[in-house]
Amino acid sequence: MTKKPKVVIVGGGTAGWLTAYALVKRMGPVLDITLVESDQIGTVGVGEATIPTMRSFHGLLEIDEREFMAATSATFKLGIYFDNWGAQNDSYLHSFGVIGQGNWLTEFHTYWMQAVKHGYQGDLGDFCLELRAAEAGKFALKAGNTPVNYAYHLDATAYARYLRNKSESLGVKRIEGKVTQVNLNPNNGYISSVDMDNGRNICGDMFVDCSGFRGLLINEALGVEYEDWSHWLAADSAQAVQTESTVLPPPYTKAIAHPIGWQWRIPLQHRTGNGIVYSSHHASDEQATNTLVQHLQGPMLTEPRQIRFTTGRRKQPWYKNCLSIGLSSGFLEPLESTSIHLITTSIVRLMRLLPFDGQMELSAASYNEETIRELEAIRDFIILHYKQTARNDSSMWNFYREMDVPDSLRHRMEIFKANGYVTPDAVNLFRVDSWLQVMMGQGLLPQHAHGAADLMPPQALLQQMQQIKTFVKKGVDSLPPHHEFIKQYCPAKIAS
Ligand SMILES: Cc1cc2nc3c(=O)[nH]c(=O)nc-3n(C[C@H](O)[C@H](O)[C@H](O)COP(=O)(O)OP(=O)(O)OC[C@H]3O[C@@H](n4cnc5c(N)ncnc54)[C@H](O)[C@@H]3O)c2cc1C
Repeated sequence: MTKKPKVVIVGGGTAGWLTAYALVKRMGPVLDITLVESDQIGTVGVGEATIPTMRSFHGLLEIDEREFMAATSATFKLGIYFDNWGAQNDSYLHSFGVIGQGNWLTEFHTYWMQAVKHGYQGDLGDFCLELRAAEAGKFALKAGNTPVNYAYHLDATAYARYLRNKSESLGVKRIEGKVTQVNLNPNNGYISSVDMDNGRNICGDMFVDCSGFRGLLINEALGVEYEDWSHWLAADSAQAVQTESTVLPPPYTKAIAHPIGWQWRIPLQHRTGNGIVYSSHHASDEQATNTLVQHLQGPMLTEPRQIRFTTGRRKQPWYKNCLSIGLSSGFLEPLESTSIHLITTSIVRLMRLLPFDGQMELSAASYNEETIRELEAIRDFIILHYKQTARNDSSMWNFYREMDVPDSLRHRMEIFKANGYVTPDAVNLFRVDSWLQVMMGQGLLPQHAHGAADLMPPQALLQQMQQIKTFVKKGVDSLPPHHEFIKQYCPAKIAS
């Protein structure tokens, strides 16, 4: 590489602009950054729910929360409300909060299970501030002195625009137009440049493929294979539609399971994002549209838009001098809102591994190994939602209920069922509390509890339960309604 390596980013969706902004903000003086995008092709236009890690990433980029939320019409998110997943007419909330207080020996649910045996009648949610706050439609950054753990819902188009403005003001060069050809160096197979429909030729040392599902560089030009996971996650289609908001925005995403797929509802300040995810093997597009439209809450602002995908991952997300980030690198359905998170971890990994000596192979090997491990941990978490169900009302649910799952997940489910042990996540993204909420929410209950709770006299146990429950309740009572907090903290400043 030359002294100031030239990074060319192809694609200007969430992946492209997040990459551009992070690189220029944190490494601008040592890099030359160009982003190519085509207004004519546009972006996927979805991807509006996040998880709390987004806040740390924004912190790294010194993004002002109030400014960002106003610019993207964002709302706060305390978790995901799952309707009809474990069984029809059943629901649970996967919140971002910590549940009760465990210790090094065992998790809090062990004590709760024992307390239930001794006559306690409440449920685990009593011990989680974020969960009860979400249900009550309340929010603030803190409850008294206790920080609240939260993420955002945001307008994806406005977010890319916001990041673009910031990136360009720091020196990212944006080139509008379509890439028509990718040129490879015949000696080493590296990408040397891309040709554009406006006649320009853009050279670079490193190319970041943020071109979306097609993977213009990593797939079409370099032919890196794709590992297909649709035998575990069969959905291959989605339809997205925006509606007017007819209710105050709740501080959670809604994921509603239907016989043919599941529907998301993402509340923003100025509209609601909706969509349905389904498998073409179990439903037609028409059935999906009907199901989606029947379950919308407000009038449609757009027509349902079709999206196709294959669940899985690029076998080598970094190959030669091309790194794929975002949809070009793989896809997991948005059940736990993990794609933008994966974009951010990819960017951090890229920044840490950028080879200033121009030798890509060692960096690529480390990058790929870490990325694949991360993706597989999330994959298992998503599969759990489908596998652990009592639903038998459609071919889709029968397929999922009966399918084989990865060994890693099978073991996790078996040990939890046997004795309540929650295996920590390999990459520590979804902590014990997340696995616990989803396993129990989906109806997987431990048959035995760890003996740790018997080390406490029943009275002391019940007393401690009461103390935590009271603490949570007081915290929730002290919070303002979510919409009121937004109104004074970050009212929307976009018109779309
Ligand atoms: C149905 C669905 C729901 C989702 N929901 C969530 C969610 O709730 N939370 C979450 O975290 N993630 C979600 N995602 C994922 C999320 O949308 C993406 O991770 C995110 O938007 C990043 O997309 P991208 O930038 O990789 O691709 P895109 O948005 O598709 O952008 C691709 C870019 O490449 C450009 N491009 C393509 N070809 C060319 C060319 N030839 N020349 C020049 N430019 C080109 C396009 O113009 C565009 O700018 C969802 C995805 C889907 C499919």
